[in-house]
Amino acid sequence: MIPTELLDRLANTGAEVTRPTGSTVPGGLFPDWVLQPESLAQLTALVRILHASAVDWRVDARGRNWGYDDSRVREPGLIVRLARLDRLDLDVELGLATVQPGVTFAQLNEALQAADARYYLPSPGSGPHTSVLGNALERGLLAGLGERERHCRDFLVLRRDGELTRLGWEEAADDRVRRALPYPPGPHLQGSLFQTGGYGPVVVELTHVLPVATELTTEPVLLAGAELTEDLLRCWRDLLLGELVTSTILASPARRRAQGITVSYDGLVLNLYIAATSATMLRAKVLDVQRLARQHGQRLAARFGGGYDDLSILGGDRNHPEAVGHLPEGLEWQTAALPFIPSVVAAFARAVRTDPLLADIPWTLRPLDSRALVWLAPIVYRKENSDSVALLRRRVAAVARLRDEFAVPAYRSGAVRSDR
Ligand SMILES: Cc1cc2nc3c(=O)[nH]c(=O)nc-3n(C[C@H](O)[C@H](O)[C@H](O)COP(=O)(O)OP(=O)(O)OC[C@H]3O[C@@H](n4cnc5c(N)ncnc54)[C@H](O)[C@@H]3O)c2cc1C
Repeated sequence: MIPTELLDRLANTGAEVTRPTGSTVPGGLFPDWVLQPESLAQLTALVRILHASAVDWRVDARGRNWGYDDSRVREPGLIVRLARLDRLDLDVELGLATVQPGVTFAQLNEALQAADARYYLPSPGSGPHTSVLGNALERGLLAGLGERERHCRDFLVLRRDGELTRLGWEEAADDRVRRALPYPPGPHLQGSLFQTGGYGPVVVELTHVLPVATELTTEPVLLAGAELTEDLLRCWRDLLLGELVTSTILASPARRRAQGITVSYDGLVLNLYIAATSATMLRAKVLDVQRLARQHGQRLAARFGGGYDDLSILGGDRNHPEAVGHLPEGLEWQTAALPFIPSVVAAFARAVRTDPLLADIPWTLRPLDSRALVWLAPIVYRKENSDSVALLRRRVAAVARLRDEFAVPAYRSGAVRSDR
């Protein structure tokens, strides 16, 4: 319980004070209150009051990270939500977007279109109404972007004691210089801002490097059969090493079924997204992809239906993501980060396929780069059904056993997880 006198002082900063709403994750606790400042001055005042109190608190951006950590807390306490801090500053010459936590993918891409810029930032599977900054700090996986940390720079950070810092940059440094350079001179602490679950320093602003939007694309698939083979994995790695594909994702048949995609082919599919800035370059890439597929004995086919709108797994809708928290079904993401060693990845996939608890879960594999892959499985459960919750627990334990057996970590740890 937050003492009334403290709550009054927090409300007097001008921040909006509300009760939390729905959630999809099984772990953690609802916060007592959600505080939403609308300016840096209000945020600073809140942080100073909270720092001097004994209350546990974390920040989030739009609180729509459902399934990884959601708007939950580990210990009784508060959430400071930064959705109303939504200033966006574009540098269309350098291809940089400086965003506050409330800026969404939709807002950013609309601004890029309005500015007639050649850049575009793909949205996550949970849709365009999530925070660019929140997704980046949580090491989001966006089509073709790989490791997000190297796309982020020039952080403005509010320490937990309420002091602002630019992490190694002199205040006098020119804005455009700071934003263009990946790091300040000398050692820096940028990595320590990622994956704190909102329990670390508060990132008030960061600059994100934008990829160029390419209109010339083609999306063939490799039909990978019933079992993930080392040949397929070697082919996939060669495609990445040769930089022939912009983005790739390997999907299990259960994953397609979970999204309501029905096709006659019932094997694993490696989706390839090939993009180029000229028709000649696109043709050359496609020829190289065909050559590598043949060389590795793989079957290439035309793309078949369905995208990766992950919310459809829950029966949700990417345009109204807030509705998902109130559904009777919840979603628990399980992950494993794997080295891109074909024998290891093939053995991991075999272990999933032969475990009766996991054989039918809708998993995908996505590359972090050509050296590491992430295995992701969204497990749906019914919140009010004890059998369903018990099955979820057994499945989560089965994935944990596999991670132990292969000595690999989860890809990322959420704010309410104890395994951080
Ligand atoms: C069905 C489904 C599909 C998804 N698909 C994808 C996908 O394809 N790719 C992908 O990358 N993600 C995916 N996600 C995860 C998630 O939706 C995105 O990462 C989303 O962009 C994050 O939500 P948010 O912006 O509301 O962030 P929040 O939940 O608000 O924040 C994300 C994390 O960053 C921390 N944080 C936020 N702001 C700050 C700050 N200012 N300072 C310090 N810490 C902060 C928060 O505490 C939290 O831990 C998916 C989730 C679901 C449920």
